[in-house]
Amino acid sequence: MRQVWECEVCGEKFSDKDKCLEHEKNCKILCDKCGKDISKINFHHIKPFLPFYGSKLDGRVVELNLCDECLCSIINKLTDTAKERIEFSEANYCN
Ligand SMILES: [Zn+2]
Ligand SMILES: [Zn+2]
Repeated sequence: MRQVWECEVCGEKFSDKDKCLEHEKNCKILCDKCGKDISKINFHHIKPFLPFYGSKLDGRVVELNLCDECLCSIINKLTDTAKERIEFSEANYCN
């Protein structure tokens, strides 16, 4: 079996250890809103999804990485109904 090396930051797989280490040195995950380096802290990964047919984003794939502050700041801009829905949802951790 061939050994596979995996980048500890983004999870990309390499068949060559040196290539993997070289990549890993420069590999960063940045918050998609504020640009902060979030490689070494907890962040929110919005799983890739396909916008509906006819959407302005039709044909694209939307996938986001956001730091905690940015996700909260987006939620803060939502309607009161949406904020309440999130606030009173089961796993409540975002203030
Ligand atoms: Zn990587
Ligand atoms: Zn951010």
